[in-house]
Amino acid sequence: MSRYRCPGCDYVYDERHGHPHEGFPAGTPWAEVPDDWCCPDCGVREKIDFEPEENE
Ligand SMILES: [Zn+2]
Repeated sequence: MSRYRCPGCDYVYDERHGHPHEGFPAGTPWAEVPDDWCCPDCGVREKIDFEPEENE
């Protein structure tokens, strides 16, 4: 499982947790998130702007 950080507001999408409010249940892989999905926190950055984080 990987995590991806929004460069605008530091929101992190974690595949382990998904984002149920946006329709992505826990475990939803990043690859299944649409490319035009916007950051739920800032609403400015899109998926393509997100940066992968190193696994802990
Ligand atoms: Zn953001």
